[in-house]
Amino acid sequence: MTENGLNAYIRKLPKPELHRHIEGCVRPGTVLDIALRRGLDIPSTDPAELEHMYRIYERGESLDGILSRFGLAQNSFQTYEDVERITYEACEDAYRKENVRLLELRFSPDFMLGNRLDWQKSFDIINSVICSFEKKYPVLCGLIIIFSRSYGIKSAEKTADFAVENRKNIIGFDLADSENLYPPALYVKIIGRIHAAGIPLTVHSGEEGGWQNMADTIRLLKPARIGHGIKAAGDSSGSVVDAVKRNGILLETNPWSNYLTRAVDSIEAHPLAEFLRSGIKCSIGADDPEILNTDLNREYSLAVEKIGLTLQEIDLCRAFAAESCFLPEDKKQQAFIELGLNRTGIL
Ligand SMILES: [Zn+2]
Repeated sequence: MTENGLNAYIRKLPKPELHRHIEGCVRPGTVLDIALRRGLDIPSTDPAELEHMYRIYERGESLDGILSRFGLAQNSFQTYEDVERITYEACEDAYRKENVRLLELRFSPDFMLGNRLDWQKSFDIINSVICSFEKKYPVLCGLIIIFSRSYGIKSAEKTADFAVENRKNIIGFDLADSENLYPPALYVKIIGRIHAAGIPLTVHSGEEGGWQNMADTIRLLKPARIGHGIKAAGDSSGSVVDAVKRNGILLETNPWSNYLTRAVDSIEAHPLAEFLRSGIKCSIGADDPEILNTDLNREYSLAVEKIGLTLQEIDLCRAFAAESCFLPEDKKQQAFIELGLNRTGIL
């Protein structure tokens, strides 16, 4: 298949997205528009210049360096109207530009809203946007609540309480932010409450540092899925890979994000193909598409052209994502149909 043929094929392919942060979906034009309307400080009012300052095009120093670039996006959630607009645009871009048919969106209430906006009111708006989007378009959606580790234990408790109170309207819970500074042992009790409430768990792990964090995450927090999980490839004993397989954990890989945060040495060195061929379930996500200047079309192209996946392996990733999504069973069934996948044929 030619490069153009491949890109056209990928563009049309119905896709599942399991790993996407709402805070990473703020369009540069929306950052500017909201800043002007609300009288916010902004580094440039020139659209092209601002876009260049906002997006990350090259590999950064570290994960922390990249996280610091999120300030502009974070500052865009000033009013309930802004929350509604950004959520709608996230859904619209995923469906129209990437043909996403299964969309799990996640956000960290403390990072996104802090004390500026009421969490419950904002959540209800976000939930109503995705519900009406789902009714209007052939996309199945769900929300994951994130706790940002760097916000401290009080914030973790508050976020877990919030997730439990809203358990009927969320599909999962996630831990994000620096794993090196805040190891999994800190959260055993809090995550125990999430499990007790029957809320599915995914954890950002194995994105930085060594594989040991991932081994501890699996042992202590028992997630159904892991965000990134790249560092499993560095464990020469194979014990982390074995634990991932034994526990049926899906790795939500995000190739371009992993390249930008230096989780991998080069995009060609990304372990996605190796993981799949060793029997690990993997999905492909875009993580923070606007900030990282990517989308699923680009991620799939990279997976084929740089990482070496076959088109059958792309389908396998789509099927793994659908099977390991956190949506309720009726929506999951519908998602398989929207994705054009035969549930029993592949898995
Ligand atoms: Zn992420």
